[in-house]
Amino acid sequence: MSAKQRIFLSPPHMGEDERELVADAFASNWIAPLGEHVDAFEREIAQYVGVKAALAVSSGTAAIHLGLRLADVAPGDTVFCSSLTFVASANPILYQGATPVFIDSEAGSWNMSPLALERALREAAAADKLPKAVVIVNLYGQSADMGPLMALCEQYGVRVVEDAAESLGAVYKGRMSGAFGHVGTFSFNGNKIMTTSGGGMLVSDDVEAIEKARFWSTQAKEPAKHYQHEEMGYNYRLSNVLAAIGRGQLHVLEERIEARRGIFNRYEQALGQLPGISFMPEPTTGRSTRWLTVMTLNPADTTLSAAQLIDELGKENIEARPVWKPMHLQPLFAQCQYYPHQPDESISDRLFAQGVCLPSGSSLTAEQQERVIGVITSSLLNQEQGVRHV
Ligand SMILES: *Cc1c(COP(=O)(O)O)cnc(C)c1O
Repeated sequence: MSAKQRIFLSPPHMGEDERELVADAFASNWIAPLGEHVDAFEREIAQYVGVKAALAVSSGTAAIHLGLRLADVAPGDTVFCSSLTFVASANPILYQGATPVFIDSEAGSWNMSPLALERALREAAAADKLPKAVVIVNLYGQSADMGPLMALCEQYGVRVVEDAAESLGAVYKGRMSGAFGHVGTFSFNGNKIMTTSGGGMLVSDDVEAIEKARFWSTQAKEPAKHYQHEEMGYNYRLSNVLAAIGRGQLHVLEERIEARRGIFNRYEQALGQLPGISFMPEPTTGRSTRWLTVMTLNPADTTLSAAQLIDELGKENIEARPVWKPMHLQPLFAQCQYYPHQPDESISDRLFAQGVCLPSGSSLTAEQQERVIGVITSSLLNQEQGVRHV
């Protein structure tokens, strides 16, 4: 085990205001869920994203669940979902008793392939079994190609739940990521670009939909003094203390994005010319936050595999991770249908095999990043020279 200090993938990074805002929550004794920080946090996120309404909830997963219920997803329904994602995008489909159908990525954005979505929608329409919703995921700080994806969903009259858990602050054609779907969802989990230690947000221009979700998120209490219940609800609200942290984090979000983009640029400059290394592309349609810097190793140009590189970094006490294992490869979803980008080409399979997520936290120092770059460079060059690793 190396004695070197551990470098994490994406640790929390507090600003200067969070402690004071939390102290204010204590001073006012608003430790309970609900309270003025929750209301203010919702207003501030809605304003930042450019939507009419927001609902603060206990997790990004809860936000997706509420979004699917708003789309009326029920047992027997299907829901289309990006395959290359974290399982939290798909689990809420199961909560609603529905069946996921997974859609591949395209190479330009690594997000949902409009080609695959079109094929899937056309076949579903022909079989008279259109999905109730499409969960479109924005991976690693980058928006999906929302123009063609939204046009397809509108053409077939299918609701979009935009999973923007990893893309708060990303921009697509001048509009913030998360503002495109009927609803958008964010996560403030510990490793995301801003964190409340745990939490999420549901956003929409549909103010009534957000109010309905608010009602479900607080146990669906009818407006009566005697605890009247006519619908099933959840306990999904964010606490006032955590909302206070979120408000402070939002103050420094743009700085965090700049820092992460700077980290990406340094990786690309130092490693981009090495044989076999490429980076997640950034389409000209907008701004990625570069929440994580992700590189791929092309087996045509190097024999070093992604798994080997992650091991080499691990030996130096550096946390790196594979790209998400696609949902269509997960045993949990073995029975589910999958639409690859082309009938004979799956992009997400390739990205999973070749991708490595590098330490990208906004608090990563230049020295730490040099350590990471050094290990990658020597692993690759040693491999080139056929040196066996011990
Ligand atoms: C983190 C994440 C979520 C879930 O967020 P939680 O707040 O952890 O529930 C959903 N989708 C994606 C793509 C994520 O990365």
